[in-house]
Amino acid sequence: PLILGLESSCDETAAALVDDSRRIRAHALAGQEAAHAPFGGVVPEIAARAHVEALGPLVERALAEAGVGLDAVDAIAATAGPGLIGGVMVGLLMAKGLALATGKPLIAVNHLEGHALSPRLAAPDLAFPYLLLLVSGGHCQLLFVEGVGRYRRLATTIDDAAGEAFDKTAKLLGLGFPGGPAVERAAARGDARAVPLPRPLKGSAEPHFSFAGLKSAVLRARDSGRYRAEDIAASFQQAVVECLIDRTARALAASAGATALVVAGGVAANGAVRGALQALAAAHDLPFVAPPQWLCTDNGAMIAWAGAERLAAGLVDPLDTPARARWPLDPEAERVRGAGV
Ligand code: ATP
Ligand code: MG
Ligand code: FE
Repeated sequence: PLILGLESSCDETAAALVDDSRRIRAHALAGQEAAHAPFGGVVPEIAARAHVEALGPLVERALAEAGVGLDAVDAIAATAGPGLIGGVMVGLLMAKGLALATGKPLIAVNHLEGHALSPRLAAPDLAFPYLLLLVSGGHCQLLFVEGVGRYRRLATTIDDAAGEAFDKTAKLLGLGFPGGPAVERAAARGDARAVPLPRPLKGSAEPHFSFAGLKSAVLRARDSGRYRAEDIAASFQQAVVECLIDRTARALAASAGATALVVAGGVAANGAVRGALQALAAAHDLPFVAPPQWLCTDNGAMIAWAGAERLAAGLVDPLDTPARARWPLDPEAERVRGAGV
């Protein structure tokens, strides 16, 4: 089967065609960096309008790139949440319209499931179950991935997400937007030992993450006037890496049977993060899987692939499926721990 995947939950508009043998037949993407840059962050109303303008042409571009018509598509997948609700509605409505017009099934994809399964698109050998570090702009979680639709959340952040911490640090240091790549570039010119910064929750008996204190420490370091921005960036990145590794090592001990250590989400594009996780996996005699960098940040291929996995499992959705701003992958963990943790 050939799946069309649409993504519009944040500030990337994307359409891709992926088949169930993992062939990416086309992927078209439009970022909105320039539109949001003056505000130093994503403005929901601007994002929704930009998705409306970009999505139709991107679908046409993807079909042209693959050299097929809509009739060749077997199912229409779109992100149905979580994310900025205006943007999610744009993509989901487009998918519903296409499904209605073609009679093909609709697949409402959880954006986080898109990230969680993206490593399997890149690595055919990656089998369930695996331990996943999901690090993105809005999330920082450790998930035991047992199968399609089966996610056990082992840890989450009690305040900021990892990508959010990168974005806020970039803003504090005047490095530009989006922040992650900017901090990584600055860090490459800095000394990671130059600035003493905390490692929140490192060594803690509880499983969770915290990054808010790190951001405050970055602010104090900046305001002290004693450090170069490059050195703060490098020290910040090092602190994040150590926190991620410490928490992931703890989760590994509770993940008997995992076939691999896997990372996904925008922050997984970071070289220092990838390198440290690779070493951690090697120390535990586990394979390490990270998608190529373009597949880490938001894209349509991961949504099409999640659609392919769900279709293979017989999971399709009715046309009245709602768009959801909030949609936890593991509702059980959400219920037990309460919102936010
Ligand atoms: P979510 O997936 O949680 O809904 P999102 O879709 O906005 O959030 P992604 O597109 O998965 O997030 O990832 C974007 C985040 O990844 C941003 O916070 C960005 O700064 C971060 N990021 C991207 N590249 C890098 C990098 N090289 N180093 C560190 N962080 C990065
Ligand atoms: Mg983005
Ligand atoms: Fe994302």
